[in-house]
Amino acid sequence: MSGETTVHPEMLGLYPETLDCVHCGLCLTACPTYRATGRETSSPRGRIYLMRGVAEGRIPLSGTVAEEAYLCLGCRACETACPAGVAYGSLLEHTRAAVEAQGLRDGLPKRIESSALRNLVPHPRRLHWAMSALAAVQHLALDRVVRPLLPKRLREMHALLPKIPASSERGRLPRFTPANGERRGRVAMFEGCIMPEMFGRVNAATVRVLAACGLEVVSPEGQGCCGALQAHGGELEFARALARSNLAAFDPEDFDSLVVGSAGCGASLRELGDWLPGEGDALAAKVRDVSEVIVEAGIPADLNRVAGTVCYDDPCHLIHGQGVSRPPRAILEAIPGLELVQHDDPGSCCGAAGIYNLTQPEMSRTVLARKMDALAALDPDFIATGNPGCMMQLATGVKQRGLRAEVVHPVELLDRALSSA
Ligand code: SF4
Ligand code: SF4
Repeated sequence: MSGETTVHPEMLGLYPETLDCVHCGLCLTACPTYRATGRETSSPRGRIYLMRGVAEGRIPLSGTVAEEAYLCLGCRACETACPAGVAYGSLLEHTRAAVEAQGLRDGLPKRIESSALRNLVPHPRRLHWAMSALAAVQHLALDRVVRPLLPKRLREMHALLPKIPASSERGRLPRFTPANGERRGRVAMFEGCIMPEMFGRVNAATVRVLAACGLEVVSPEGQGCCGALQAHGGELEFARALARSNLAAFDPEDFDSLVVGSAGCGASLRELGDWLPGEGDALAAKVRDVSEVIVEAGIPADLNRVAGTVCYDDPCHLIHGQGVSRPPRAILEAIPGLELVQHDDPGSCCGAAGIYNLTQPEMSRTVLARKMDALAALDPDFIATGNPGCMMQLATGVKQRGLRAEVVHPVELLDRALSSA
């Protein structure tokens, strides 16, 4: 490495991992941004080359590096494709942290993003009030009145905004829920930040299903945002502070598994040991996706019919970030009357990628279009996926294409089969 150039410490830290890449190119066709652009610099191999060049002091930490770091979806499909085991997700997080520290993403959009991720998302009360205000605006249709006056970028953001659920569906879970029948274990529920506000119904369904599996469920006070969105935005230190709050809230000795229904949160929580070496390992070891916990506990018998066809779409942070693909399908296959049909493109990104659909709207639309082509070809009754960002993105795609599908979490369909029994 050059002794003359000052290299950012985050880039020096990631250098050894960049050497794992043997430039074979097997990741290229798995990469949505490479498929869309055909550019080597927009591929995993090209980005790793840039990272390594920066770490060696051969390439400046410049706007080009920053653009490619943020054009990347962080979907980690390249990790699944890579025979050399390159930990691309970690490389990307450190590169983005260096880009942020260097001030290469300054400007109003970045300041709004950073402020929302620091001052709104991790604060449950503020987030609840903001969502309530937004719900009132939607109820009075004020947003539709103002929309034509907004700049193009804000109009695009408005088009992505889902309907805010009724206040009865937005809220936290009970601190304790007993098992139904014989108690077979005790799990802790990770509620998340966006989930209680946008998908409180999924969290509530998850607790009902876990209880039906014979598991008592605790949901401790003091838990909060996992820090995934902040880490993906290059704010690693802030993400670590959020992770420490969760370490204080969850005692890994108190439960068998930490159940997560949001794939993005699950992937980050499994990496607590990397974020906070020595501190986070015990809790990280307990993290399980809800689908894994249900299958391990045993899918309840005597389910009633839920008629229709369902396409399962793998959240990137579940299939690529956590290696979980079979359990959600097993749940859907177990429901009588429901036919699981396989579309052509289940393991590739839908373009949501945290807040990527807001920060990179053009590429996000390109990536979503490919996904919706595959789903529209089958025109299912349900599209099931296990991540809030993916659910919102796919619902946008369904609306734009005029499809009939209801976008749901797999656990919701199991809950329906239980509650109609
Ligand atoms: S994370 Fe996704 S978008 Fe980024 S380089 Fe890997 S495959 Fe491409
Ligand atoms: S598949 Fe892995 S080793 Fe091959 S080019 Fe991609 S990142 Fe490098």
